Amino acid sequence: MAKTKMPGTLRISGRDYDLAAEGKSCLNVETMGMHYPWDNRIILNDSTAPGQIRSTSLHEVLHACDNDAGTGLDEQAVTSLSSLLFAALRDNPQWVKWMMGW
Ligand SMILES: [Zn+2]
Repeated sequence: MAKTKMPGTLRISGRDYDLAAEGKSCLNVETMGMHYPWDNRIILNDSTAPGQIRSTSLHEVLHACDNDAGTGLDEQAVTSLSSLLFAALRDNPQWVKWMMGW
């Protein structure tokens, strides 16, 4: 599969978020990503493996959606749902293309 460059912005719930990958100095050593709803930023730890950083981006997007929807998901729910959703998207590229009309 061709590698696509990480976008610098994401549109979530009608707002533009900055998306950036930074070294672990900006994050706790055990933190793979952070979602900052007050200034619309998502930061990913660039020291994680390429597959992990992509999965983490979905995890942080789910946090943003949860925040906007007010669903109150806890960390375990976000982790479980984002992991399963990431796998479903990764394992079904034809479905994703069909669903998005690409
Ligand atoms: Zn989280």
